[in-house]
Amino acid sequence: MAVASTVPFRLDSLASDKDAKALQFIEEVTRNVDSVQQRVLREILSRNAETEYLKRFGLNGATDRETFKSRIPVAGYEDIQPDVQRVANGDKSPIFSAHPISEFLTSSGTSGGERKLLPTIHEESDRRQLLYNLLMPVMNLYVPGLDKGKGLYFLFVKASTKTPGGILARPALTSYYNSDQFKTRPYDPFNVYTSPNEAILCTDSFQSMYAQMLCGLVTRDEVLRVGAVFASGLLRAIHFLQTNWKELARDIANGTLNPKVTDASVRECMEKILKPDPELAEFITMECSKENWERIIVRIWPNTKYLEVIITGAMAQYVSTLEYYSGGLPIASTIYASSECYFGLNLNPMCKPSEVAYTIMPNMAYFEFLPLESSSPSGAVDLADVEIGKEYEFVVTTYAGLCRYRVGDILHVIGFHNSAPQFRFVRRNNVLLSIESDKTDEAELQNAVEKASLLLKEFNTRVVDYTSYADTNQIPGHYVIYWELLVKDSANAPTGDFLSRCCLQMEESLNSVYRQSRVADKSIGPLEIRVVQNGTFEELTDYSISRGSSMSQYKVPRCVSFTPIVELLNSRVVSKHFSPCLPQWAPERR
Ligand code: AMP
Repeated sequence: MAVASTVPFRLDSLASDKDAKALQFIEEVTRNVDSVQQRVLREILSRNAETEYLKRFGLNGATDRETFKSRIPVAGYEDIQPDVQRVANGDKSPIFSAHPISEFLTSSGTSGGERKLLPTIHEESDRRQLLYNLLMPVMNLYVPGLDKGKGLYFLFVKASTKTPGGILARPALTSYYNSDQFKTRPYDPFNVYTSPNEAILCTDSFQSMYAQMLCGLVTRDEVLRVGAVFASGLLRAIHFLQTNWKELARDIANGTLNPKVTDASVRECMEKILKPDPELAEFITMECSKENWERIIVRIWPNTKYLEVIITGAMAQYVSTLEYYSGGLPIASTIYASSECYFGLNLNPMCKPSEVAYTIMPNMAYFEFLPLESSSPSGAVDLADVEIGKEYEFVVTTYAGLCRYRVGDILHVIGFHNSAPQFRFVRRNNVLLSIESDKTDEAELQNAVEKASLLLKEFNTRVVDYTSYADTNQIPGHYVIYWELLVKDSANAPTGDFLSRCCLQMEESLNSVYRQSRVADKSIGPLEIRVVQNGTFEELTDYSISRGSSMSQYKVPRCVSFTPIVELLNSRVVSKHFSPCLPQWAPERR
């Protein structure tokens, strides 16, 4: 069994004072996991003793684990949603937290088709910053000289909305990039980005990407690391370069800025950066006009030492493509975080993608783990007590007032750093399809297929069976739905145009994160229906049984990724149809 870094860091003279302090902090909290967790729970429960939520379950001011676990139930979003809605509607009483809810972080996880709203409080941003501040000191242990150049990071914000009660609702990273902590961060030679704040904070994704790419190109020799938050984001950037390099090269040659960039603050700051550089423009033109884009990252940014993107969970599907574009540079997957809470970091960031493990920092929140084999809340195990080799569902109690809240992630313990367990991210509970931040579950897919198949009635046709596949062979990736149809009257079979409408109907039925990715971010391509020959799903059953599935328990998988099965399905395709236009999407107001 793989065991991650069991060895404590060497806190030697190589580290700067600042780094040494950060590494010392990691050592301290990871040596004292259980006492830190006990303190965190005590702090949360004592300060929130008068909240409606804790009083409702009769905690009566207790701050010990036993009483807490025996009185407070494990909860999912649906359990807390009525209280969330009260806060969203303007109820300012202390429902979750003794501190005012400063804003809602909108998760990419959805409930009833809409993004979940997770409450947060001001001081949580300090806790998140604290975790960010640990990342570079760890990286500096493995990669020297990162203060000698810049990071080309493609970072984006989304539009914010307000709830009816006037509380801001926006994704966690949008909140972070708009915070003073980020915008007015002190100069740190280890954290110099090529992207100016103005470009990062532009909510138009084309203009933001264009400006960030241009800045990355004009400083190409200074770039030491290239990244985005998720692997899909970096691939989108490469695709953007593929489609826009001519315009980018023209701007570089002339020192001008494409008129498609209309945002005044972006234009103002870019005008200070851009100077005519025909030689660089010629180089970009030469590299980008080549048919072969293998190693394009190191061809354009030759001093890149590593890529930094999350490549675990749904992002694992992009590893080989990133290796292709980077010529096999190391990929650092550094942080594990969510809208509920930031959890931890990878203490061995230069490891292979398949070996990435995250160490949860015990000061961030109080963490419990439900063993997967008995997912019963009474069996919840503390952070210090998880066992190597076991899988757990993850539950958090946060300073902002989420209590024993199911995050929805399944984690596998692979080792320890001091007494802190290190977790491999296994999967998100009940997510079938994901291209980037979208998460489509089985019920949502079922509902979408049902809505679309209603349209087929006028052709006296029905869907016999279906499955799905996240096709990420091209950028952007897209959903593929395999349909086996029973056409009762072949003279009146559904036409190609009609099946394209079914694609759109399915997209209209999917959740708001999917539709936002399609419409605003353009990070997911049109949904595709592949109609397969009659009898294909029976063949699929036979194949699975031949590989050991039990005949009586076999269920059609609603999503496939195993190559032989995808190949079997593809070899039976009789026609392909794509959504003809974008589905409806507008920022939510609730
Ligand atoms: P959100 O609430 O939209 O911020 O999404 C948080 C979720 O994204 C987590 O609960 C995980 O399912 C997923 N996630 C975040 N960081 C990672 C990571 N490093 N590896 C795999 N999945 C991650």
